Amino acid sequence: MDKTITVAQIKEAVQEAYDLYKNNTEGKNADYIPYLANIDKNLFGISVCLTDGKIIQLGDSEYQFGIESVSKVHTAILVLRQYGAEQLLQKIGADATGLPFNSIFAILLENDHPSTPLVNAGAIVADSMVKPLGDSDGKWKAIVDNITDLCGSAPHLIDELYKSESDTNFNNRSIAWLLKNYNRIYDDPTMSLDLYTRQCSLGITAAQLSICAATIASNGVNPVTKKQVFDAKLAPNIVSLIATVGFYEHTGDWLYTSGIPAKTGVGGGVMGVLPGLFGIAAFAPPIDDAGNSVKAQLAIKYIMNKLELNVFRSERVTITE
Ligand code: GLU
Repeated sequence: MDKTITVAQIKEAVQEAYDLYKNNTEGKNADYIPYLANIDKNLFGISVCLTDGKIIQLGDSEYQFGIESVSKVHTAILVLRQYGAEQLLQKIGADATGLPFNSIFAILLENDHPSTPLVNAGAIVADSMVKPLGDSDGKWKAIVDNITDLCGSAPHLIDELYKSESDTNFNNRSIAWLLKNYNRIYDDPTMSLDLYTRQCSLGITAAQLSICAATIASNGVNPVTKKQVFDAKLAPNIVSLIATVGFYEHTGDWLYTSGIPAKTGVGGGVMGVLPGLFGIAAFAPPIDDAGNSVKAQLAIKYIMNKLELNVFRSERVTITE
């Protein structure tokens, strides 16, 4: 089945989603990280980046918010770039835990591998794997450069968020040392955790995340800068990781109702990838009980359903002017 949708239809769907949900008051800001608790809860932005680089954006799409767990995707990509698909599977894994993002129980249950780089345990392991090993500054540079390549412009560390998160990340400290106990972390645990905390504290915009998602949707070619960021053959690995656990324990419900693999962060960002067509990102601080932005979910779901797009539907879709 062939289908054509126009840029005007996408713009219209984005506008409708924005108007429908901008006054929604469900959810509440993440409160376990003081900085996030105090962000203006009314901020709301949406951005779609097509695979030709065209960007459709609305609302607070240029506001810099804490990237938080969306950055787990970026560092997973870096590990894939540095080690390849097989090593990531062996050393971390690609399975959903079915448990909350910061679960210690999940590590105890599957102590032979941390499951996936998209939950805290696997993400800290991913940071431990980043090369050059043993060199905190070198690793940080690799992490930031990779995000810059994927998003087409640099993220900026939000110092206050980094401090706020470092002062309160007791659960993640336990995770890092438990991983050490099971011999499943590949660099210094304190350094690996610090890199993870710092990457979560990077400020990013919905527009930048939509470009990153479009890079994944375009088999590794950033549609804005035209740079080949990662090998095209890694794209399905990346999308499968996102599809499996992008919404933590709500991932199945999300995929079933939205039809798009997407990754969330407790900062309020959601980044979705529709291979071959576009990347989409939305941002609004109030989150639900699993740590996923309420308004961003509603908006992306609305746009997907309105355009009748679904990653699982067998059809050839073309986007025209
Ligand atoms: N930095 C957060 C944490 O590890 C990220 C969580 C998230 O965004 O899901 O607690």
